[in-house]
Amino acid sequence: MPPVAAATVGRVTTDATDAPSPTRYRCEACGNLTRFDVVTSRRTKAFHHYSVGGELTVEEEQVLDENVEEVTCRWCGHGSAVETIEPGAVTVPDGATGVEGAG
Ligand SMILES: [Zn+2]
Repeated sequence: MPPVAAATVGRVTTDATDAPSPTRYRCEACGNLTRFDVVTSRRTKAFHHYSVGGELTVEEEQVLDENVEEVTCRWCGHGSAVETIEPGAVTVPDGATGVEGAG
């Protein structure tokens, strides 16, 4: 068999998705679904486009690696009861948001 063409580079998965589904959280202690302090470390690649005068415009930014280090409930002041929710597992009451076509 011929060798299979490599689809990934290193450990980075090149998934060119513009809008990744956001991770959602829930505080089991107080039921908070909407207010969290999230500490995230990100490694990104971007096209730094300078004008002749030295003015910088950052374009085509890609997230190569992302690591959520800490999630804290704003109401409780700690993150000991915060859990991650699978996308789509959240039941939002009808009319709670003005967002359309999110599903
Ligand atoms: Zn809480």
